[in-house]
Amino acid sequence: MIRAQGLGRDFRRGPETVHALAAVDLEVAEGEFVAVAGRSGSGKSTLLHLLGCLDRPTAGQLFLDGQDALRLTERQRVGLRRRLVGFVFQSFHLIEHLTAVENVVVPLRYAGTADRRRRAEEALARVGLSARLHHLPAELSGGEAQRVSVARALVGRPRLLLADEPTGELDSMTADELGGLLGEVHRGGTTIVVASHDEALLARAGRVVKLSDGRLAQA
Ligand code: ADP
Ligand code: MG
Repeated sequence: MIRAQGLGRDFRRGPETVHALAAVDLEVAEGEFVAVAGRSGSGKSTLLHLLGCLDRPTAGQLFLDGQDALRLTERQRVGLRRRLVGFVFQSFHLIEHLTAVENVVVPLRYAGTADRRRRAEEALARVGLSARLHHLPAELSGGEAQRVSVARALVGRPRLLLADEPTGELDSMTADELGGLLGEVHRGGTTIVVASHDEALLARAGRVVKLSDGRLAQA
């Protein structure tokens, strides 16, 4: 599903260059559940953004589902991302003036999918939120908001789910429920890469790799 070789990402910050990620080699097979651990600032978000084609590396190679992601045109890369990848962010990134079901419809509208409303409702049912379809994000608990964002990530039936500290803003009980949901998604056949330093969530992964100062080691 994923083959990254020598992946690097430098950021310019004024006169300095920040090496957020350096020489990362990572392979993830279809159906794996891999966790990326590492303290704050170690490069987890940078790595997930690169894997999800939300950002471009400054070094290295990246193959996604057998395609050379960095040699595609921008348009092809956006197409690959929409087909293959769902993304869950730490702070949910829901659109505040849209209801739960309207938020979940958004990616289907970009993809031009038919029958969007029904598919969004099904995705919300899958995460246990059938009773919250018409709530705004501000009317949801943190755990519910994160489940809406999982439904939004899954509604396009991606084969790869990338989740960046998805339990980072949840209390431990709610975090555990979200971990359980990710476990179910994985058992349903979706490949998962999750960045986290939540021990309970790391324990659910089949494999944990560790980033420190932008470099990867098998944990
Ligand atoms: P983590 O998600 O593990 O907390 P990040 O990937 O966010 O780590 O950041 C890794 C390093 O890259 C940090 O030193 C961070 O300050 C730096 N960094 C991340 N994004 C940018 C950016 N857009 N511009 C400059 N530096 C950045
Ligand atoms: Mg981060």
